[in-house]
Amino acid sequence: PRTSRKPEQGMGSKTTPCSPAPLQVVVRIRPPQSHDGGLCSSWVQHVDGATARAQGTKFKYDNVFGPEASQAAVYQASVAPLIDIILTGTSACIFAYGSTGAGKTYSMIGPGGGEKATGMMPLAAAELFRRTARLQQDAVGRSEFELRVSYVEVYCNRVRDLLAPREPRGEGLALREAEDGRVYAEGMTEIRVTSVQQLLRLERSGSKARSTEQTGVHAHSSRSHALLTIAVERRWRGDDSHVGSFHSQVAYLTLCDLAGSESMERAHDGAADDAGIATNLGLFHLCRVIKARAESAAVVPYRDSVLTRLLQTSLCGTAATCMLACVSPAEADAGPSLSTLRFAAVARRMQLTPTAARVVSVLDDDPMAGDVHDHDPQLQRR
Ligand code: ADP
Ligand code: MG
Repeated sequence: PRTSRKPEQGMGSKTTPCSPAPLQVVVRIRPPQSHDGGLCSSWVQHVDGATARAQGTKFKYDNVFGPEASQAAVYQASVAPLIDIILTGTSACIFAYGSTGAGKTYSMIGPGGGEKATGMMPLAAAELFRRTARLQQDAVGRSEFELRVSYVEVYCNRVRDLLAPREPRGEGLALREAEDGRVYAEGMTEIRVTSVQQLLRLERSGSKARSTEQTGVHAHSSRSHALLTIAVERRWRGDDSHVGSFHSQVAYLTLCDLAGSESMERAHDGAADDAGIATNLGLFHLCRVIKARAESAAVVPYRDSVLTRLLQTSLCGTAATCMLACVSPAEADAGPSLSTLRFAAVARRMQLTPTAARVVSVLDDDPMAGDVHDHDPQLQRR
């Protein structure tokens, strides 16, 4: 059934903001790997829980984790606070930044992927299911949650739907802006999920679709940005609800595994091919946006790339955002790793004022019936 939504009476486009806070920066230095060739001298050190030292310079962050850190410890510092925020109806984002091989995918998804994965995404999903089930139980009949997942990649400045039933070809999905300012990919598949296992299976099939590009698994994943979004919708009937209407609020948790940051440096020396350059442009513009926000610039160039447009809501300040800066200890990666540390220090100056999503009234006899959002008539459901 189709539902009609209208903004809550007496509510503006935004509800009360939380107090301003800077973007959270968590640095993770991965353990040496066999492919580092034993060349992992102490050029970068984990000094204490908030400090890293590289080539004689000390860098301060919200958290710094060394090679021995567990996924659970990184989760507690980076994503756990975001889950609390999501449950207040405010959107949140975590993005992993760093060179290829620095540990972004290991941290975000975890080795193996699928149901065995132990990274930030599976931990966040488990926590969301646990917490929403508990909230629903405590408020029997009064409040219900629905979780939906979408998974896209940005490759060559185009959006590909990783959950599309058939291999998507052509120009990629067009971007649209919803009434509330959120930018989304038109026609993107969004699937209702009712268990962590189901969500993890979708991640696995999406990640497979991501890596089956002819250019090869590693080359492709180091050049594409993957964005997995979990929409958390709360629906409830207020005392003031009219018969046949209920309230709805949707917060989005975006988990982003960015392309390898070293490609940006390759672009400058002219060695990158087209795909490399297009990816670099996304990252290049992301860095420009973050720098502009960190310097409180009057104009922030979100519109310059598909990646920055898709991340606009996560970077403009109304969402709670965490940067997970992944650092390789290998000598060979010292250049890009140092750039990551420097850039993470700049990003930390970005101020955010996370703001709860607008509450809308929905006219429908059956509040839990699958509905189609009016901002996206193309939205597919399976
Ligand atoms: P990226 O996604 O940044 O290119 P990966 O996450 O694929 O890098 O990590 C590169 C390699 O290092 C992989 O073999 C991965 O399993 C390993 N690795 C990364 N981080 C860790 C970690 N914290 N602990 C153990 N192994 C790790
Ligand atoms: Mg990766």
